[in-house]
Amino acid sequence: MKFLRDNRFFLAVLIPFLLIPWISWDGFHLLLFNFSHNRLELLGMATEISTYALIGITVLFGLGIALICALSLSRFYCGTLCPNTFFAHLLTLFGKKKKSLLSKIGGFSLLTFLASMLAFSLVAYGISTDELIDALMHLTFAGWLVILLSVLMIAEVYMVQGWYCAYLCPYGATCAILPIEDRLTYRFDDPNINCTECEGCVKICPIPNLDIRHGFDIRCIQCGLCEVACEKVFAKCTRPSLIHPEKRSILRAGGRSMGIAVAIILIILLTTAGVVTLLDEERLESCRLENRALY
Ligand code: SF4
Ligand code: SF4
Repeated sequence: MKFLRDNRFFLAVLIPFLLIPWISWDGFHLLLFNFSHNRLELLGMATEISTYALIGITVLFGLGIALICALSLSRFYCGTLCPNTFFAHLLTLFGKKKKSLLSKIGGFSLLTFLASMLAFSLVAYGISTDELIDALMHLTFAGWLVILLSVLMIAEVYMVQGWYCAYLCPYGATCAILPIEDRLTYRFDDPNINCTECEGCVKICPIPNLDIRHGFDIRCIQCGLCEVACEKVFAKCTRPSLIHPEKRSILRAGGRSMGIAVAIILIILLTTAGVVTLLDEERLESCRLENRALY
């Protein structure tokens, strides 16, 4: 139950993310950047479009969402919505020393299944699910892409997770350079000098050489594992953890209100640019049209 409570934001986003590629009516999807038929499908309607324009729109869409998240949620995203943090929680749950071999195998199977589902869904935003299942069965390009993404995700979680978050993740780097304050920052607070120096918080932290007791570190992915570790140290003497999240509201006015305003302006600009690009007659005429009846 605690695991579900801690990961409720991620699960609330994961379910629609997994479902959307399967939703279609009259042969057109809720949202599909259909690279196999050169068309953009949105809300059950479709617009034919050249491959290059489709690549442009897909990249703009992905970057737009990432930028909007960075400007409004910042590292709140890392701790609550990022699949990497979810997998770190899963690994901590199943990887405990006292867990049986069977439970560890179960945990690994679940992690592999979820990573594969995520990879499948990600690719399924670029090709219909029927075609993707077919590609997996016949091991064509899209099928290999799903396999490659799943393997990369599992390898990253098991081998370089914290290192990836701290030094490679483009989202983390973007948040670090944006002039905005971080959300849900974890803080070490020990006015009565109760810290036992057990280093539990340091050992469990997925980021290499990060000690939250020394103050805020920009590499912190806000996973909250240090808070749980400290909670366990003081569980017997019913004292609270010495590490707490600073629960700031996502919509709180202040440093980040500027970020939300910029995010709204970006959404309007990106939507306008997308609509203008789609309706450009010259570009539409130059498309490789498969089915003019779509117009
Ligand atoms: S300091 Fe705590 S919240 Fe930050 S990454 Fe390490 S364990 Fe996670
Ligand atoms: S887990 Fe708690 S008691 Fe142990 S070193 Fe960290 S802050 Fe101190």
